[in-house]
Amino acid sequence: MSSPALHRLFDARAYDPAPVDSWWEASAPPLAFDTPPLDGAATADVAIVGAGYTGLSAALELVDRHGMDVDVLDAARPGWGASGRNGGFCCFGGTKYDAAGLISAFGRDGARDVMRAKVEAIDMVGERIAEFGLDVEKHGDGEVLFVHREKFVAGAREEAALLRDELGVDAQYWDNARCSEAGLPGDLWHGGLFVPHGFGLHPLKYLRGLAQAAHARGVRIHGGSEVISVREGADGVAVSTRTGEVKARAVLFATNGYLAENLPAWFAGRYMPALSNILVTRPLSQAERAAHGWSGDAICADTRALLHYFRMLPDGRFMFGGRGGTSIDPASVDAMQRRLRHAFERMFPAWADVETTHFWNGFVCLSANRTAFVGRVPNSERCFASLAYWGGGVAMGSWMGTRAGEMIAASLPRNGPARAAAPVPQAFTRATPRFPFAAFRRAGLRLAYALFSARDEWL
Ligand SMILES: Cc1cc2nc3c(=O)[nH]c(=O)nc-3n(C[C@H](O)[C@H](O)[C@H](O)COP(=O)(O)OP(=O)(O)OC[C@H]3O[C@@H](n4cnc5c(N)ncnc54)[C@H](O)[C@@H]3O)c2cc1C
Repeated sequence: MSSPALHRLFDARAYDPAPVDSWWEASAPPLAFDTPPLDGAATADVAIVGAGYTGLSAALELVDRHGMDVDVLDAARPGWGASGRNGGFCCFGGTKYDAAGLISAFGRDGARDVMRAKVEAIDMVGERIAEFGLDVEKHGDGEVLFVHREKFVAGAREEAALLRDELGVDAQYWDNARCSEAGLPGDLWHGGLFVPHGFGLHPLKYLRGLAQAAHARGVRIHGGSEVISVREGADGVAVSTRTGEVKARAVLFATNGYLAENLPAWFAGRYMPALSNILVTRPLSQAERAAHGWSGDAICADTRALLHYFRMLPDGRFMFGGRGGTSIDPASVDAMQRRLRHAFERMFPAWADVETTHFWNGFVCLSANRTAFVGRVPNSERCFASLAYWGGGVAMGSWMGTRAGEMIAASLPRNGPARAAAPVPQAFTRATPRFPFAAFRRAGLRLAYALFSARDEWL
């Protein structure tokens, strides 16, 4: 259970380190090494809080390319957070803007930089998988965003044109016939926006592959090690758990939606954990798949404000996810499961009898400026953070974690070979603003969900 020293936005049960009953947990081989709690006093160049994609990617960067000594501390275990329970869409993430919004927020050049980073992030995950020889059930080539109402077709065409002409992404609008050609249902939506970047993977196998690679390179990964305080002094930081303390030269907060309100205190009111939910069915037979004309392996979502994301898994199970739910108490979680199942059956009527075998949820992280952050925590010398990927952290968490590692290495006297840091778009290094009326963030999210869901249903 979460320490009383930490103030978090949701009930303690959301932070219970018990294993999550997900299909990924049921289908991934266990970690091949132990992750014992931190015990007593330790020293390191860098301490990393959180063993998800962000923390492990930063650790790999620091140890591999900068020769640093790294301790990773996780309150539960590697991949217990969103990195072990997400939809496995390695896709665009890190902002909540369409192409026009991105250009208006960051200017044309700034928006192009952001898109370049998004593409680079997806490619980087592909390269990592190949480099480490990971068996992560990688599949598909590109993502389709299905248009759920005919009146949004024009918008999808415009979005494809803006992405292509202004932002350097070769997007296309696919009509229903083209969707069918790709082995996707041609009759359930009004075509879709296709972007030729992104693929599906088994998120926990990818996470454990990163953890294994980090462990093999000498990174010390501690489970059961909730960090309850970080004290910054002139010569370093003291990062404390209930059973030990790491004295390090810098610390990275890689805690995304599981961040505590008071650690680091600067982030209070500047981030918002939001629940995302997933159901997985039993494997569908060939006849069942054919009933909706589904033979393709693309990753898919729809254009609803409260979007659904879905894909056929390589073994024929269907994965269906959606944002929603603002409480973690069992009655609310049950209600969310029923809503998600209802949405699945409504979207895929021919599969109404295909049972759900697994349902679970977890936190993504939102921010008031609709943009992820990586860099030094403002007002601090030695604390860094990388978070708020807006539900798209498979690629962006991996990429930003790597960038965070580079930034930390650049801030410390080098004890490894120098390596040029990759440029990070300015959009991602601006200090995250506070939410207006931050104390009421959960109530605000409830209201937003009610409005989005009415808009998706009726407008
Ligand atoms: C249901 C769901 C579906 C999603 N689907 C997708 C998808 O398909 N594609 C996509 O790109 N993204 C998706 N996401 C988002 C993505 O999973 C996250 O953006 C990404 O995993 C964040 O990685 P991370 O390493 O930053 O944080 P996390 O993986 O959340 O890890 C944070 C870790 O920090 C630890 N921690 C927190 N506080 C402390 C502390 N004080 N001391 C020690 N440890 C601490 C936690 O135990 C946790 O393990 C989804 C998320 C969810 C929940």
